[in-house]
Amino acid sequence: MNVLVTGGAGYIGSHCVKQLKMRGQNVVVLDNLSRGHKEAVPEDVILEQIDLRQTDAVADVLQRHHISAVYHFAALAYVGESVGDPLWYYDNNTAGSISLLRAMNQVGVHRLVFSSTCATYGQPDRMPIVEEMPQHPINPYGMSKLMVEHVLRDYAAANPKFAFTALRYFNVAGSAADGTIGEDHGTGETHLIPVLLLVALGLRDKVTLFGTDYPTPDGTCVRDYIHVEDLINAHVLCMANLENGDQNFYNLGIGNGYSVKEVLDAARRVTGKNIPVEVGPRREGDPAQLYANADKLREATGWSPNYTDIDAIVQTAWEWFKTNPQGYPRPRK
Ligand code: UDP
Repeated sequence: MNVLVTGGAGYIGSHCVKQLKMRGQNVVVLDNLSRGHKEAVPEDVILEQIDLRQTDAVADVLQRHHISAVYHFAALAYVGESVGDPLWYYDNNTAGSISLLRAMNQVGVHRLVFSSTCATYGQPDRMPIVEEMPQHPINPYGMSKLMVEHVLRDYAAANPKFAFTALRYFNVAGSAADGTIGEDHGTGETHLIPVLLLVALGLRDKVTLFGTDYPTPDGTCVRDYIHVEDLINAHVLCMANLENGDQNFYNLGIGNGYSVKEVLDAARRVTGKNIPVEVGPRREGDPAQLYANADKLREATGWSPNYTDIDAIVQTAWEWFKTNPQGYPRPRK
């Protein structure tokens, strides 16, 4: 079976490519390289540098490579950026996905696993989050993904041969255990674990703790950190289970949370560095706690995470950062 991975040059997509190849699948990557890195794609994997919104070009890729299923990761994923430029996010994430579906429809490709997000829930009033809880995103990023969920549902209802699974990710973290690929968001990096490791490397001075007065055991926010390889495992299981007409929505997290201070302590233990911190104000839009109930996914596919210990997750990220402190090689000007 030939599969297409959109966003396969990005952090999560590149881990999908690696795992699919290890499983002996033929993989083609489609990526516009606006955020991804050519170097993250193995040399023996075809990289089609195309934007999702170029419907005919995407359809041509699907046809030329005899693709029968699509893992769809390509998206912009910074909340702050989405607030500043919502049209960009709706165009790239929502219109891009519609264009992909049109292309798939044109050439008869009927299987899709889609990267959705817990940001579609907004600020739920109960934890853990279950799939039936209301979805009220509080930023354009979350809304751009929720809109795709609705599009998928309606498209599937009209096309009985089509089947999809939308996976609502919690906080994706870590890297391939062999340190060959990892997270490289350049100077724009804002995620907690990479920021902690950049400070450990001396590439940033300190980490700001965004609020220590939350109603949580230690006053810092609690999140559900899921290792990227466990996350990809779930995608592969979901794709294998798809049958005509399926419309699945699953939470994808480990089912419990770690506080910012607990992650900081883990990063200090793993790196052996002090990691200076300062306490700052709360970051706008950060709910106190977000963690998943992932029972629906577990029951449907038998999935369970290999990584549940935060030190082990941070350790894999550290393998990547300490050998690639500047990330992937920068293209020459
Ligand atoms: N965080 C922090 N300092 C940082 C980056 C993140 O205190 O420099 C906190 C953030 O407020 C949140 C948690 O760490 O509570 C995880 O944030 P991240 O940006 O990694 O993921 P998000 O939960 O926003 O998707």
